[in-house]
Amino acid sequence: MSKIQTALDFAFSHGLVLYQNDGQINHAPFSLKPAPFPQKNIKQAYDLASDFNQLLVNIAHDPDFLSQTFQPMADDFSQKLLAIYQQIYLKQSPVQTVAFNLFRADYLLQPSGSTHQLRQVEINTIAAAFVSLSSKISDLHRYLYPRRNLPPNDNLTQVSDGLALAWQAYERSNTWVLFVVQKPERNRFDQQQMAHALFFHHGIRSMRLTLAQVHHQCRLKKQRLYIGQREIALVYFRAGYSPNDYPSKQHWAARLLLERSAAIKVPTVAFQLAGMKQVQQSVADVDALKKFIPDSAQRQRMQACFAQFYPLHDETHRQLACTQPDDLVLKPQREGGGNNVYGHDLAKKIKKMDKADYTSWVLMEKIHAPVHQGRLVQQQKITAKQPLISELGIFATCLSQGQQLYHSQATGHLLRTKLAYHHEGGIVAGFAALDSPNAVKTL
Ligand code: ADP
Ligand code: MG
Repeated sequence: MSKIQTALDFAFSHGLVLYQNDGQINHAPFSLKPAPFPQKNIKQAYDLASDFNQLLVNIAHDPDFLSQTFQPMADDFSQKLLAIYQQIYLKQSPVQTVAFNLFRADYLLQPSGSTHQLRQVEINTIAAAFVSLSSKISDLHRYLYPRRNLPPNDNLTQVSDGLALAWQAYERSNTWVLFVVQKPERNRFDQQQMAHALFFHHGIRSMRLTLAQVHHQCRLKKQRLYIGQREIALVYFRAGYSPNDYPSKQHWAARLLLERSAAIKVPTVAFQLAGMKQVQQSVADVDALKKFIPDSAQRQRMQACFAQFYPLHDETHRQLACTQPDDLVLKPQREGGGNNVYGHDLAKKIKKMDKADYTSWVLMEKIHAPVHQGRLVQQQKITAKQPLISELGIFATCLSQGQQLYHSQATGHLLRTKLAYHHEGGIVAGFAALDSPNAVKTL
């Protein structure tokens, strides 16, 4: 049997699948071979997870910092999230003080002499995708290439164990987990495999609702969240990160209702704000980071992976954008891919930008990731060898109350490989492929 057929059999047997735009089901695009990635950078990214868990917990519990960061922002979406945050966490006391988070920190490699340095692209604090499919692609590569150096990746099990820990922290039996989802959702199977792991490994039942359905079906009784007779212990957001998820006031009312409830939220609006790009830019500043991370060794570990940011209120930075746009990326306060601006468009955009919008965008150093040659499997066909770059994601879970962390762990990894000359490649959008790292000494 050909390698591709073996791979496709594995993909369909183990749910490495997505809905296509036309509503049909097909395998998720994947890289035939695991892409080379330096072992020491993989270890470094894993080791950083507990540092960033601590940082995000500290940021999410600093109301002054969050208000100062988001107050001046013209962007309506961030303002609405901030208003919910202020209503729940500043004007009242939240009913639930336990937080559970599932983060994914994404990294590219930056060439540096004869080696490479890890550069953090962003940390996703809401709806980080591929919890399950990341484990499946690692299994697929291990099955196809058992002699390669493929780090173990039990992400799905570890994340569902973490969710089960959060469910237990709610301390009421016979309660459910609510997945808040988009509709249609092409990445439904990634989510459902988590629901299945919760049921089969922990006996925990879950259901799925869109924000519109939450508005119609969810009620608070003595601040506890109910759908009919079912009490919800945990609300896991796989939606709610994009303005498109809130087309009406009812959708915002639904978010507010969930946030007001005693259910443990994955994440709360405070952690959603803490993951936004404006915050990433702020803490890239040495003094700002000091406030959250007093330990200098810990700070140095984190700073070693920070890319340069160029706040737009500084005129020299805006000029830089006009003279060297190819060394920069301009990003809005948005999640979900496809929003960034590059090259000529970037220079044009900044020239025309209104002063009021400076805080709604971040200007970041462009990371020139090393290119490797490989073949992708898309729509059951193998491509020719082509130039590719790979982005490493490290998933981490974190159970906390106030600034105290009770559980903090890196749970697994995901490699996303995309065409080298395509600026952004979404896997669900079809420009990138699931991959896993072949840990090598050097590239
Ligand atoms: P989103 O929240 O939309 O996922 P990201 O910051 O992850 O935003 O950007 C999307 C993609 O753009 C990344 O996956 C990466 O491929 C590319 N990208 C983002 N920032 C940089 C950068 N500084 N240098 C090079 N590529 C980048
Ligand atoms: Mg991203």
